[in-house]
Amino acid sequence: MVASRSARERKAGAEAGPLATAKIDLDAQQQFVYKIGCTSCVTKNQSAWSTYRSGDDNGYLAAMDRWILHLTERHAGAEAPCLVYLPQAQQRLQERREGFQPS
Ligand SMILES: [Zn+2]
Repeated sequence: MVASRSARERKAGAEAGPLATAKIDLDAQQQFVYKIGCTSCVTKNQSAWSTYRSGDDNGYLAAMDRWILHLTERHAGAEAPCLVYLPQAQQRLQERREGFQPS
């Protein structure tokens, strides 16, 4: 459990890129809670940008989607491996807005 959690944390951090801080906590149900924070927005604003999503792979995807959109909206030109998933992230966001529930 602990090993897989830190491995996932490293993977999330690597994919999110140098601007992000990726962290995984456990909630009361022992589910993973993915937290991605923006190091750039921490220094510029009083309130740091960050996102929290619980659940294993769903939580990972949801947190990473929000991070990808934050990067493209606020830090145009920033480099991060996760940006290759931008089209999928935008599509998933759109599906959520339309209330479409993927099975
Ligand atoms: Zn930011």
